[in-house]
Amino acid sequence: MVQGGGGAPPDLALRAPAFFLDRDNTLVRDSGYVHQPRYLELLPGVEPALLRMYRAGWRTLVVSNQAGVARGHFALADAYAFNEALAFEVERIGAAIDEIRFCPHHIDGRIQGLRKECNSRKPGPGMLLEMARDWNIDMGRSVMIGDQATDVQAGVAAGVRGILVQPGELDRIVCRVLSEDLQRKSYLKEVNRGIH
Ligand SMILES: [Mg+2]
Ligand SMILES: [Zn+2]
Repeated sequence: MVQGGGGAPPDLALRAPAFFLDRDNTLVRDSGYVHQPRYLELLPGVEPALLRMYRAGWRTLVVSNQAGVARGHFALADAYAFNEALAFEVERIGAAIDEIRFCPHHIDGRIQGLRKECNSRKPGPGMLLEMARDWNIDMGRSVMIGDQATDVQAGVAAGVRGILVQPGELDRIVCRVLSEDLQRKSYLKEVNRGIH
């Protein structure tokens, strides 16, 4: 299930790193109604974090489990509508989500066709691997951030660093990831200067 944030087509020749981000309780507050756009609420620190990623030239790719669809709690259309509202809200603050993907499947689901085991359901790496290919992501520099162990596991399974975040702590972590990346880049520059 794929949704774009709209905007100009990306320059995919440029190999950029990505922040793979969980949605519920990482970007938005999980009120129990995260399929109704009117309950959309960005968590504290999300706004500066998303602006930071955007300005640093990293991709912002959201990967979400939405087993509520398979369970019949809400419809696919509701999941799409909520994601659209999220993408719109993020554009309104001057940042961007490049893409939102979600897995609507669950092995115990009751909706025909969605009741199945799926490699894209986190901790499976399916969504991350697909996006890595579609967006030409530099996985060596990328991270997966989420509030659940399964988010971290999905990242590790996809070959990136997984980082656990408490709701409201995203900006602190994004700051740290970006500054570590800058330090590593300048270190590599120093090392390469020694080669002749
Ligand atoms: Mg979550
Ligand atoms: Zn799935």
